[in-house]
Amino acid sequence: MTDIEYRLPQRLELRTDLPGPASVALAARRAAVVAAGVSSTAPVFAADADGGVIVDVDGNSLIDLGSGIAVTSVGASDAKVAAAVAAQAAHFTHTCFMITPYEGYVAVAERLVALTPGHHEKRVVLFNSGAEAVENAVKVARLATGRQAVVAFDHAYHGRTNLTMALTAKSMPYKQNFGPFAPEVYRMPMSYPFRDQPGLTGVEAAQRAIGMIEKQIGAQSLAAIVLEPIQGEGGFIVPAPGFLPTLVAWARENGVVFIADEVQTGFARTGNWFASEDEGIVPDLITLAKGIAGGMPLSAVVGRADLLDAVHPGGLGGTYGGNPVACAAALATLDRMAEYDLPGRAAALGARAKQTLTDLAADVPAIGDVRGRGLMLAVEFVGADGITPDAALTKAVAARCLEQGVLVLTCGTYGNVIRLLPPLVIAEETLDEGLAILVDTIRALAGAQAEVSA
Ligand SMILES: *Cc1c(COP(=O)(O)O)cnc(C)c1O
Repeated sequence: MTDIEYRLPQRLELRTDLPGPASVALAARRAAVVAAGVSSTAPVFAADADGGVIVDVDGNSLIDLGSGIAVTSVGASDAKVAAAVAAQAAHFTHTCFMITPYEGYVAVAERLVALTPGHHEKRVVLFNSGAEAVENAVKVARLATGRQAVVAFDHAYHGRTNLTMALTAKSMPYKQNFGPFAPEVYRMPMSYPFRDQPGLTGVEAAQRAIGMIEKQIGAQSLAAIVLEPIQGEGGFIVPAPGFLPTLVAWARENGVVFIADEVQTGFARTGNWFASEDEGIVPDLITLAKGIAGGMPLSAVVGRADLLDAVHPGGLGGTYGGNPVACAAALATLDRMAEYDLPGRAAALGARAKQTLTDLAADVPAIGDVRGRGLMLAVEFVGADGITPDAALTKAVAARCLEQGVLVLTCGTYGNVIRLLPPLVIAEETLDEGLAILVDTIRALAGAQAEVSA
C-alpha cells in the first residue's frame, strides 16, 4: 500500500465533550435559520478535514468512518484536488457548457469512457447530483426505447427529487407526505441473502423478480431496470451471486435498458473501480456521483452511445452540469485514485476490517450479518431471535461511537445497520483505532442488551 502523507495529524483527540462550546453556539444560530427538515448525524461543526480525520470548531479531531457518505474517498482536502480547484477557479468558474464549452468536461468524459465497464462505444453527460444523474438515465432509457415503465427494487435509494423519490423504497424520511410521486415506477423484490428464505440463490431471486415483471408490466412496456449493485442507504445489501448477471441477461434479451446506479459504490469503493466489475456485468447505463470529484458536486451518466445519442440536441443538460471547477477536481481525484491504487487499498483495508467484524460477530449474537466489499462494510443488528431488526441498539452504538469521537453512519430499511465507508486514503492505524472503538462499543452495548433481555 502506498504511504500517504497527511496535512493533519491522523489521530483521535478530544479536547471537549462533544459537542464543544463553539459547536453548541453554532447549533443555536443554525436552529434559528436552517430548515428543520435538514438533519445532521454529528452535533459538531467542521473546521478542517484531511485523510481520515475531521477537526471540529472546538479543536476536537474525530475519526471519520463515513466520508460524507462515500464522497471524500481521496480525503476532503487532497493537495492535488485543492490545487486543481484553485487553478481552475482563477481562470473561470463557469461559462455553462451549453453556451461556451471547455476542455475539462471533455477530459472527464474521456476518462469515464475508459474507466467504466465494457469496451463498446460510449457517451457521457455530466450533472451535479446523484439524483439528477438517475433522473436523466431514466429519461434517456424512456426516449431510446419508446417505453415508459421503470423497475426499481425493495430497499432501493436513488435520491430525493420527484422521480427519484418514486424510485426510492423507504417512505420515512424520504417520501412521507411528499407525494404524489412519478407514475410508471414498479417495485420488485431484491436479493437480500440475510432476509431471504434460506438457500434462495441469486439466480432464483432474479427469476422471482423477472416473473413478476413479466406478469405485472410485460417486458415490451419496460424501459429500464434501475439497480444499485450493492444497495447503499437501504442497508448495504449485497445481492446473492448470480442475481445481477441474470437480470442483465434478461434485460438484454428483452430490449430493456439496465441502469446500474453506482452513485455510492463507484470509484474504488468496493475494491474495484466499479461494483459492476465484481460480477462482470456490463450495464447499458451507469450513474455516477459521490466519490467522483473529491467532494465537489459532479455526477455523470455513462453508457451506450446508441442510447445517449438517441436524444435530440438540447434534450439533456442543465445550467451547472459539468461545472469546470468540479471537472478539474474530478480529473485530479481520478489521478490520485490511480496513483494511490485506491481500488487495491480499499480491497486490502476492507478485507482486514471485515475479518475484525466477522470475528466480533462470532461472539456477539446481536450481530445478525456482516457484509460488504472493500471499504463498503456493514453490520446488521438483530434481536434475540436472530432476525428481528434492532434499530435501538444500532442507534445506541452509533451515538456512543460519536461521543468517543468516531463518526459512524447507520442505514437500512429497518434502521438496524451500521455502515462503514471511511475515506479510502485513511491510514491503516487510524482505521484500526476507529474500528477498535466500534468493536468495544458493540461489545459493551450488545452485551448489556443481552443481559436485559435474559
Ligand atoms: C446518494 C445516492 C443517490 C443520490 O445522490 P444525491 O447526490 O444525493 O442526489 C442516488 N443513488 C445512490 C445509490 C446513492 O447512494
